[in-house]
Amino acid sequence: MLISIASGKGGTGKTTLALLLAVAHSQLTLIDCDVEEPNCHLFLQPKWQGPGQDITIMVPRIDSDRCNGCGSCSAVCLFSAVAISGKSALLFDELCHSCGGCLLACQHNAICEEQKIIGTLMTGAAAAQPGIHLVNGTLKVGTPSAVPLIRRMKQESSQLTGDILLDCPPGTSCSMVTAVKNSDFCILVTEPTPFGKHDLELAMNITHLLQIPTGVVINKSDAAGDENIEAFCTSRQIPVLAKIPHSLSFARQYAAGCIPADFQNIAATIWQQLKAERSARA
Ligand code: SF4
Ligand code: SF4
Repeated sequence: MLISIASGKGGTGKTTLALLLAVAHSQLTLIDCDVEEPNCHLFLQPKWQGPGQDITIMVPRIDSDRCNGCGSCSAVCLFSAVAISGKSALLFDELCHSCGGCLLACQHNAICEEQKIIGTLMTGAAAAQPGIHLVNGTLKVGTPSAVPLIRRMKQESSQLTGDILLDCPPGTSCSMVTAVKNSDFCILVTEPTPFGKHDLELAMNITHLLQIPTGVVINKSDAAGDENIEAFCTSRQIPVLAKIPHSLSFARQYAAGCIPADFQNIAATIWQQLKAERSARA
């Protein structure tokens, strides 16, 4: 079962929940797709299998001797990554999405492609929690899109058997959509604030569009704000799987790089619901 853990906004506790669920399960693969700032490895202390694999994409290169500035490449580029200056084309790597469109559009054989490293993929067994296998992606600083790296991480993990947890990037951008896509179930983590509710709605809209069964976990739960979130979830017919209360001791342990044992009962309850979901789908 592939379970993605996402949230409409950062800082709601996605990674906390992913780690709690991983420890409660104890035999699974955790894919850290929060590639701009992966941090599951800080808690799991994995023994990496090798130095890591460079992940590359193909980017266009323009041969100025052949280019006559006709503009066909610029016209076809939906990302404004090619501009025409005088009689030559200028490429802006930072905007390029590696679609290959300009290559097809150029009738003068003035564009070729070359590999560009966009990040690193590492795998390893968690020394701190035996039985947990970690797949970790790190996006190279300055790389505009995390999508190709996340896609590659999911491809690499597609042969794995057993349960897989996927810690998604925050927000509701293309990176999150790529990470969540094809999940068997998505857990949306939120906090009981107006911002939390607003961004939860955006994330729910995405899982709805992708037709992914969804449940919500309310983190930093408090009596006053929970009601709004719960009423909202009810209106969308999305179950609230669990609530994780505010806890200073939990926050202290987490900040010290430990996975607190405090809420393992909550994680176990969530797994029970996920197993029921799996049985219902079987
Ligand atoms: S399509 Fe080819 S020839 Fe025309 S501007 Fe682009 S690179 Fe130059
Ligand atoms: S590969 Fe695609 S995104 Fe990149 S410059 Fe060419 S057309 Fe634009």
